[in-house]
Order: sequence, then structure tokens, then C-alpha cells
Amino acid sequence: MRKKWVWVALGLAVLAGGAVYVKRDAIAMSLIQRGADAAMSRNIMAELRADQLHVGFCGTGSPLPSRDRAAACTVVIADGTLFVFDMGEGSGETLSLMGLPLDKVRGVWLTHLHSDHFEGLGPFTLQRWAGSTARTPLPVFGPEGVIEITEGLNRAYKIDSTYRIAHHGEAVVPPSGFGMTGSAISPGLVYNSGDVRITAFAVDHDPVRPAFGYRVDWKGRSVTITGDTAYTPALAAAAKGSDLLVSELLSPHMVKMLENSARKSGNANRAKIFADIQDYHISPGQAADVAKRAGVGMLAFTHIVPSVPKPFEFALTDDAATHFDGPTEIMHDGDVISISGGPAFSTRNLLSR
Ligand SMILES: [Zn+2]
Ligand SMILES: [Zn+2]
Repeated sequence: MRKKWVWVALGLAVLAGGAVYVKRDAIAMSLIQRGADAAMSRNIMAELRADQLHVGFCGTGSPLPSRDRAAACTVVIADGTLFVFDMGEGSGETLSLMGLPLDKVRGVWLTHLHSDHFEGLGPFTLQRWAGSTARTPLPVFGPEGVIEITEGLNRAYKIDSTYRIAHHGEAVVPPSGFGMTGSAISPGLVYNSGDVRITAFAVDHDPVRPAFGYRVDWKGRSVTITGDTAYTPALAAAAKGSDLLVSELLSPHMVKMLENSARKSGNANRAKIFADIQDYHISPGQAADVAKRAGVGMLAFTHIVPSVPKPFEFALTDDAATHFDGPTEIMHDGDVISISGGPAFSTRNLLSR
């Protein structure tokens, strides 16, 4: 008797499987439609608590190619507004995929003019213009030389913009909103509006001069972003009392290994590049020292050099844990850290839903 029921159940399962197979196109289209509806109506800002300062990671990679990490990009969200720091290759797409509203981007502040920190500006500016019907260009701030970059990118995208306007019309892509405007800034207070204050400070990324880090303060909470830098006492001074320190990460041991591999395989030029980059980036231990000296609540690593598979990431931070006993995290694209102003930090990932 029992055997008979097993055969009946098996038969029904085969029939159901067959029905799903026959209808697979309709089922796939219906699921895709549902996904598209959910993506279009998603409102991430409503999910981010208004009484917290949020720090998102729209790019945690570096110039070394990685399929998992877009190049440098950090977004600070305060009072419903997005303040973006650096926009490396692929990071504009990551910002969009995180569901963050492009029309809420107040501006982009570049730490320095290495290309892995601005290559995403072109695609992002186009997405913002067409995706949110921007009526004014994207403001981009950065060290001396930034205007050369913004004007160059505007020139590169000019022809494309004429096609977009001709195709979609001025109501959708207003000509006044095309492109970006560059403004050169110097260390000091560079933004002060509402409750948000942004301070730029000089860091040491020689021969890249000038190079900045940024500190954002909002309602007694704050985050300090190092940008690319060798260790300098200016870091702890700038980050003093911040809730969160966002530091770049370069593993000297692993980069040394890459240098040795390049040399062994006869690639002397590559070996020299790997040797050169070791002296203008901070080590994880030094970053942890800065975190301790500045008395920050949490240390978050980004600009990961090199990007390694997740199970090996623990080895990237070397002895950082012996220098700083607060929470330390290696960030991934899509992560958001929410700061309440106390010792507790919550992290979620907006890409893994
Ligand atoms: Zn960099
Ligand atoms: Zn750099």
C-alpha cells in the first residue's frame, strides 16, 4: 500500500515538473516582471533611519582588476542627501545597483587625481542626468587639476549627449543638466550647509600632490575618510573623536608576494610597480594605530590591495587587531555602516538582497 503511494507521489512530481518546464518562458517573464517592479519602486532611503549617519561602500577596489570590487567610492548619507567621495571605475553602477537615488547626490569630492578615483565620473554623470532628469550639472570638487578632468570628460561625452537629447527629448534629458562642473578646493572647511560639515585635510601620497582625506560631521556624529596615503600624523589629528575611520588597505606582505611573482616570471616592469606602490600607502597596522590614537569607534577598510577570495581576507589586515581593539571590518561593495552615535555600529549589504 505504502509503495503505491510513493509511485503516485512520484508521478505527480513528474507531471508538475513537466508543467513547469512547458510554461518556463511565462514563469521566467513573470518573475522578471516582478523583479523589475520591485527594483523600480524600491526606496532604500526610507529604510535608512533618519537619525543615523550612514556610510556606504560603492567601490572598495583599487587599480588592480577585480570582478568583485569597483574602484574607489564611498558615500556618506545624512539628512536624506548623498555626499560621494571618489568615483572610481564601476562605482557609479554599484551606487545605482545599491538602489541609492542618484538625484540626491549633492556632489562628488575627489581625494586625489589618480584615475582609479575618478574614472567612474563619466558613466555616473550620464546615469544621473538621464535617470533623474537632472537640471544642473553634477558638482565635482577636488584638488587643483580637477577642472581639467571634468572639462575633459564633458568633452568626451558631448557627442553622446546630443544623441540622448534627440532621442528622449529635452523634458527627459534637459540640456542644462548635462555633464559636471569642477571646482578646485584647498584643505579646510569645504562644505557647510544644514547640519553637514565637510573638512578636507592634506595627506601624504607623494608624488600625487595635493592629496586629501575628508572628514564629515553631522549632528555630533562623524566619519573620516583617509583617501590614499602613507602614514602621516595628520590622519589621527583629522580623525580625532570620529565614530568611524574609513582607511585604505594595502597588505605589504601580499604586495611583496606579487612583486616576487612578477620578478620570477620575468616581468621586471610589473615587479617595479608592485615595489613602488608599497611606499605611498598606509599599512593595516599603521591604520589601526591611527584609529587608536584618534579614539575612533570603528575602523573600516576599503581600497583593498590586493583583492583576494573572501575566505583569505582575514590575512589582509596583518597585525591590525593588536593595534586597535575596536571593531574592524574589511568592507565589500554594497555595504552600508549605520552610525547611531554610540559604540554600536550596524552593517548591511544592499547588493545581497
Ligand atoms: Zn587609489
Ligand atoms: Zn592613489
